[in-house]
Amino acid sequence: MQFTKKSQEHIDSCRFCWMCHHVCPIGNATGLERNTARARALGLSLVMRDSIEYSDDIINNVYECSLCGGCMTDCVTGWDPVMFTKEARLGAALDGKLPEYVMTMLSNLNEKGNIYGADKNENIPEINGGDTLFFLGEDTRAKSCAKTAVELLQKAGVEFTLLKDEPNSGYSMDFLISAAAETKAMMENCAKVLNNYKKVVCYDPADAKVMMREYKEWGIEVKAEVVTFTRFLAELIKDGKLAVKNSGKEFTPQDSPILARDLEETAPIRDILSACGVVNEMLLNRAYTMLAGNLIMNEYMPNVIEKVAENRWFNAKNANAKVLVTTSTAEYEMLLKTKPEDMELKKIEEVVAECL
Ligand code: SF4
Ligand code: SF4
Repeated sequence: MQFTKKSQEHIDSCRFCWMCHHVCPIGNATGLERNTARARALGLSLVMRDSIEYSDDIINNVYECSLCGGCMTDCVTGWDPVMFTKEARLGAALDGKLPEYVMTMLSNLNEKGNIYGADKNENIPEINGGDTLFFLGEDTRAKSCAKTAVELLQKAGVEFTLLKDEPNSGYSMDFLISAAAETKAMMENCAKVLNNYKKVVCYDPADAKVMMREYKEWGIEVKAEVVTFTRFLAELIKDGKLAVKNSGKEFTPQDSPILARDLEETAPIRDILSACGVVNEMLLNRAYTMLAGNLIMNEYMPNVIEKVAENRWFNAKNANAKVLVTTSTAEYEMLLKTKPEDMELKKIEEVVAECL
């Protein structure tokens, strides 16, 4: 297993200091030391020095990270466990050491176009409406639904296209094997389709993240303007295309770590919720948010991911939240699975639709 100089520096510089330990949603769910950035860096530092083998146990540990970036945000010395964890996944792929569960997901992706092995969702209509592409993404097509979002865009008079055969953005490949040649090829294929449009509105932050960050980093050109659905929706309200009435109801935003940390986008969800009602914040919000779910990891460690979602409900309850509002498909699905009876869960578009 070969690490780049940059990763070697970050692995070696991580002080194994415990300081970020409390912000790890996976470590908090399992209660295990092995699930902290500190323990992962320690294991990889031994692999890096050839003191131990890059064994199945260390590789599994590398896949027990959600890449949510909580530790990175909290690290006062500025080290980046997400970077070296992704590189360790790439290393496992290049060394032919991928765990069975990762191989299964990759083979599903090859056969069905999604890692879940789901058949094509025939309920999604094809809409040929113009040079704005509404991109639903793999998680939504395979595991969720964006019907209300589609209807809302139509109500706002947005001319948009929805593809029956949408390309995969490469988000799941990036999560599983990082910057492998296959990931880049998938992203290049997607970029070719995106470039037929002037604007791409990403329903799921996960797709927006790779299009706005990894494509750029790896020199994959996207000429289309990429925006998140949340930002697009906030602009529709601001421009008066969706005339919402303030219901006075209290809403608590669940900041998606991808939106809040990777894309540094925290204002649009609050703009929308303030237009529709009153914002009631959780203690850990914006860049300090906690992950509430990951559908990829739910494939191989479902009990832990359910506990992650339950923990976020616990945070919401402590903030006296009544209605938790999400913008991420994965988080919505996991929160729905674990929802306490006395609390409400809404997607951002549902909040808007109810206030029209
Ligand atoms: S990532 Fe930073 S805060 Fe976390 S253990 Fe390493 S040095 Fe400490
Ligand atoms: S990236 Fe997230 S899941 Fe991974 S070690 Fe850091 S805080 Fe934990």
